[in-house]
Amino acid sequence: MPKVVSRSVLSSSTDARPTASSAAALRVYYCICGEFILVIDKTIASLPRRQTDGAIILRAQDSDAGKARVFKLNAVAGEPVLLERSGGHERQFRFHCPRCTLPIGYQTTPPPAKSGPYVYIFAGALSQVQGQVPPDAFDGEDGDANAEKIDTEMATR
Ligand SMILES: [Zn+2]
Repeated sequence: MPKVVSRSVLSSSTDARPTASSAAALRVYYCICGEFILVIDKTIASLPRRQTDGAIILRAQDSDAGKARVFKLNAVAGEPVLLERSGGHERQFRFHCPRCTLPIGYQTTPPPAKSGPYVYIFAGALSQVQGQVPPDAFDGEDGDANAEKIDTEMATR
């Protein structure tokens, strides 16, 4: 008899949250619109961030530097975007929310997800509470935030 080992940790139902006993470490994250986007073995707030854009780094493949995070992304792959970075260009293959199409992250290799060493999640794109805007939603928007502030000051004059 072949031994059947279920390696499926994730429930197919987005309503079913992992119970404390079966998957204590699994965290579920939602888009601002409430759509289930990510389940991962660690809080994304505790993960390292890119200096370039503040995006949260999910290690997608094992390497000498460490083991891959266990995570599943529920997102739609979009068109690649070419960005200018100091010292060159960067191609990003964006992931979008399947419901509201908001961009929630990217990787630097073509789909499917995890085809490259890392998957990046935009700072403030996801919330652990369904339907709630994450507290850091406006972090890392230095330039824009200042511009907005000036606009607001002028508007309230
Ligand atoms: Zn959404």
